[in-house]
Amino acid sequence: MVYRPKIFLWMLFVVLACGAGQGQQDGSVDYNNRGVEAFKAGNFPLAIELLEQAYALAPESGLVRGNLCNAFQGQANELIVRKDYRSALPYLERAIKVDPENASPRVQLGSCYLNLAEVNAAIVQLEAAIDLTPGELNAHELLGQAYYMDNDLSSAREQWDYVLEMDPQRTELKKRYDKAFREESVEYDFNQWKSRHFRISYPPNIPAALRSTVSSILDRAYIDIGRALGGVFPPPPIHVILYTAEQFTEATRLEQHIGAVYDGKIRTPLTDAGGVWLPQEELERRLVHEYAHVVARSIAGDNMPWWVNEGLAETLSKSLSDTEKTRLGQAYGRSEVYSLAQLESNQVASFNPEALRLAYLQSHASIDFLWRRFGHSKMMSFLRALRSGTSGEAALQSVYRRNYARLEQDVAVSCN
Ligand SMILES: [Zn+2]
Repeated sequence: MVYRPKIFLWMLFVVLACGAGQGQQDGSVDYNNRGVEAFKAGNFPLAIELLEQAYALAPESGLVRGNLCNAFQGQANELIVRKDYRSALPYLERAIKVDPENASPRVQLGSCYLNLAEVNAAIVQLEAAIDLTPGELNAHELLGQAYYMDNDLSSAREQWDYVLEMDPQRTELKKRYDKAFREESVEYDFNQWKSRHFRISYPPNIPAALRSTVSSILDRAYIDIGRALGGVFPPPPIHVILYTAEQFTEATRLEQHIGAVYDGKIRTPLTDAGGVWLPQEELERRLVHEYAHVVARSIAGDNMPWWVNEGLAETLSKSLSDTEKTRLGQAYGRSEVYSLAQLESNQVASFNPEALRLAYLQSHASIDFLWRRFGHSKMMSFLRALRSGTSGEAALQSVYRRNYARLEQDVAVSCN
């Protein structure tokens, strides 16, 4: 299962100045002014092209540099709004190169890295932004988020305390602050264990053998899932927090039927509600499922419909049993199934347990069908289409030549 916190998005509002009357007779003024017009019309590629011409002619002009920087940021912002953070990165790097004393593109770049879960890269940019503009609240808020994602809760608290003191109206931040410190109150005495890719936090009373079981499950998943999804290996550290069932409920406030969660960190209980250690097979299924979310997110970002995200995680962590197929076949027969459109939103996660089980099963069967029938490289194209902001059904149509209704029929048939 996936819980998505709202990560603060750096929205960009820029004003470009026209450069007439700067005394430059070399054509740079003309390029600059046409670039500004293109920017105002929202044509960022043209604005960049024209302002780069102006910059080549007048590299010393602060005005031209500022405008070109804004044009790169405008283009990046357009991609950020579509959640295509990866494609925004090169524009922001170019913005920083052109206007290195400007904190704004660094804040925006830090925000992109956070959304891509590349925490170390985010910290570098946000700290640099704060050096350039001390007290910039958005940079401090994002830096707190980066520390939080890095599981450095006391540094996160320091940043967020400052931001909330200066601006108590940030209610979204206040929610995240409360969540973080509810977790901290559960995890304050946890130990940490580092492997090459993972940083694992666990309660003090965990047997050493269980800890190393978890570690080897994760290391194997890192290789297997990475390969299954086309050689994708997210940068370390990937945080994993292990709990007892009771601690899991207290830290996450999730209901008992939720087995584990990925909310930027993989969180899983090691025991059942009665305090008995989970069987290794069950623990492995949960950890692999959550790790599949980590990899899928690093390919498609936040643009996956719920059924794709959960269907992938299920397909990669277990096979569909005959009993499940029969059950699903019967549900299709009685038309007691969801349409895939109903399974797009993350609101599905709040379905009642029985409804949620069916939603998982349908998602699993749908991805399983696509993967088996059309193979791995089509699945990669599908995820990349989603990453670029294409909607679920449009991506399905363009890669698999079928709409939702057709896929629903295919899956119903495959269950019989
Ligand atoms: Zn999941």
